[in-house]
Amino acid sequence: MTTARTLRSVAELVDAGLMPPEAQHAGAAKVGERYAIALTPAVAALIDPDDPHDPIARQFLPDPAELLVRAEERADPIGDLAHSPVAGIVHRYPDRVLLKAVHVCPVYCRFCFRREMVGPSGLGTLAPDELDAAIAYVAARPEIWEVILTGGDPLVLSARRLRDLMERLAAIDHVKVVRFHTRVPVVEPDRIDAELVEALKASGKTTYVALHANHPRELTAQARAACARLVDAGIAMISQTVLLKGVNDDAGVLAELMRAFVENRIRPYYLHHPDLAPGTGHFRLGLAEGRALVEQLRGRISGLCQPTYILDIPGGHGKVPVLSDAVRESDDGCFRIRDFRGGEHSYPPRHD
Ligand code: SF4
Repeated sequence: MTTARTLRSVAELVDAGLMPPEAQHAGAAKVGERYAIALTPAVAALIDPDDPHDPIARQFLPDPAELLVRAEERADPIGDLAHSPVAGIVHRYPDRVLLKAVHVCPVYCRFCFRREMVGPSGLGTLAPDELDAAIAYVAARPEIWEVILTGGDPLVLSARRLRDLMERLAAIDHVKVVRFHTRVPVVEPDRIDAELVEALKASGKTTYVALHANHPRELTAQARAACARLVDAGIAMISQTVLLKGVNDDAGVLAELMRAFVENRIRPYYLHHPDLAPGTGHFRLGLAEGRALVEQLRGRISGLCQPTYILDIPGGHGKVPVLSDAVRESDDGCFRIRDFRGGEHSYPPRHD
C-alpha cells in the first residue's frame, strides 16, 4: 500500500485500504479517540491488507482489544514518573539518565509502554527552560556517565535541534556516551541523511543508536541502507525488540530478526518482555512462554545473535534478565523477582 503521507486516523486508514469501512463505526474508532495513531508511508507500504494476521498491521493498526484494561495494567508501567527529579529526566540507575526531550513519535505502536505519555495529547516537547534545567541536572552530577535520549522518538527532532542538544552535552566532561532510542531508521529511513548523522556525532562523545524493530520484514532495503549510513559514520548500533504475541512469538521469526540485525552490524541487545501498559494484554505472553521461546534460540543461532531477554519490573524497580536466578517460578505459577537492589517482587504484580 503506497501512501504519500503519515496516516493519523481510522478514517485515513480506511481511505488507504488498510482497514475495512466498518472500522470507522466500531471499537477501533474509540481507540483512535483515546490513543494516538500514526503510520508513516514506509510502514503502510509493509502491510498486507489481505492478511488478517499481518505482523506489521498488528503493531500499528488500532484494535478494539486496546479498550480492555486489565487489573494489573498501569498508566506508568515502569515507574518513570516516580524517578523524574526534573521534567524530561528519569534517573533510575546511578550512572545514567533518560533525557526525554520529546514525547512524539513518527509512528505509534499499539503496545507502547509509554502510551499514556506520548502523542499529541501526551507530555509534549520540553520547553527551553525545562531543557536548560534537564541539562543542568546532568551537568551537576559527575556520576552520570551516559545520557539516553528517548521519549517519544528523539530522531523526530530536526538536525539543527539535535546538533544544539549534542553540543550542549559536549560541554559536560563526565558524560562519555550518548544513546538514542529510535524507530526512525525503519519507519522513516530517508530521514537518516548526512546532516542528521553529523548532528548525532556533534557531541564528540561515543554515540550509540538503539534501533527498535520487532519483525524481520521491517528491515527493508531502505531501512538497511539507513542503518549503514549510521554505522559507516562510526555510530555504534544495538537493537531493541519487544516480544509480542502475534508478531514475533516464534523462534524462527526471532532468529531471522536477530540474524538480520547482525548482518547489518547491529548488535542484538534487549528482547523486552512486554510491559503492563493499559489495553495491551492481547500482546502479552506469560514469562514461562517467553523463557521457553528464548531458550529455543540457544544453539539455533550464533552467539552474536543472542539478545538478553529482559523484564522491566513493574513500578520502576529496574530491569532484570529473565533467564537468570533473579527470576524464579513459584509453585503457584507466579514468579518471584529480585531487583538490582535486592528487593523482592511478584510477577505478575499482586493487586488488591
Ligand atoms: S516508537 Fe517507542 S515511544 Fe513511540 S509509540 Fe513506539 S514504543 Fe512508544
